[in-house]
Amino acid sequence: MASIEMRNIVKKYGDGFPAVNDVSLDIADGEFMILVGPSGCGKSTLLRMIVGLEDITSGDMIIGGKRVNDLAPRDRNLSMVFQNYALYPHMTVYENIAFPLRLSKTPDDEVRRRVTEASDVLELKEHLERKPANLSGGQRQRVAMGRAIVRQAEAFLFDEPLSNLDAKLRGQMRTEISRLQRRLGITTVYVTHDQTEAMTLGDRVCVLRKGLIQQVASPRELYEQP
Ligand code: ADP
Ligand code: ADP
Repeated sequence: MASIEMRNIVKKYGDGFPAVNDVSLDIADGEFMILVGPSGCGKSTLLRMIVGLEDITSGDMIIGGKRVNDLAPRDRNLSMVFQNYALYPHMTVYENIAFPLRLSKTPDDEVRRRVTEASDVLELKEHLERKPANLSGGQRQRVAMGRAIVRQAEAFLFDEPLSNLDAKLRGQMRTEISRLQRRLGITTVYVTHDQTEAMTLGDRVCVLRKGLIQQVASPRELYEQP
C-alpha cells in the first residue's frame, strides 16, 4: 500500500490549453479517492499520469514517498482496472488472474497460492476453470480485480469501470468494489462522471473542471453544502 502525492502537476498535449493545470492532491495510504467532473476535465489524463501511461509536463508524482515521474508503468507496482476488463477470452479465470505472475516468472506453487487466495476473497473459487465468455459481467469485473490483487499492487486505479454495465449490475458492482476496497484497505483512485458513484463509493471526492481542482471534500461535506 502506498500514499499518492501530486505536486503541481501540469499536462500539456502539444501547445494547447493544459489538460491538467497545476493539480496538487494528497491521497492517503488506504484511502479511496474519487476523481469526478465533466467529460474533458482531465480525469483520465491524471489517472494515466499516476500509472505512468502518460508523461508529466511538469510537477512531481510521488508514490509511497518515492518520485516516480521517470518510472515506467511496470516499475510502479500499481494496478489499473479498465472499463472493458481486458480479460483474455481464450484463457480460464485461473490463467487470467495468474497472468501478471506468469509475466514476472513467479514459481508455480507461489502462483497457485496467490490465485487461490485472491479467488477466495473474490468468491470466484467455483469458476476458476471457466472462460470469461461464460461469466456474468460482475464476475468478469471480479476476475479483473483478482488480477490486480495477485500483483500485490500498492494501489488500484479505476477508469470508469462500470460505465458499460446496465443499471442493476452497476449498483451491484458499486457495492462489491466498495466492500472489497475496505476489506483489502488498498489505496484506490477511481475516475467517474457518475454522481451516484462519486457520492457513494469514496472516502473523498476530488471535483475537477477544465484541468483544475474545484473542490476536495468527503461525500458528506459535498452533500451538506448549500
Ligand atoms: P476526461 O477523462 O475528464 O474526459 P481527458 O483527460 O480525457 O478528460 O482529457 C482532458 C483534455 O485533454 C481534453 O481537452 C482532451 O481533449 C485532451 N486530451 C486528452 N488526451 C489527449 C491526447 N492524447 N492528445 C491531445 N489532447 C488530449
Ligand atoms: P513496455 O512496452 O514499456 O514494456 P507495457 O505497456 O507493455 O510497457 O507494460 C509493461 C508492464 O507495465 C506490464 O506488464 C504491466 O506490469 C505494467 N503496466 C502497463 N500498463 C499498466 C496498467 N494500465 N496498469 C498497471 N500496470 C501496467
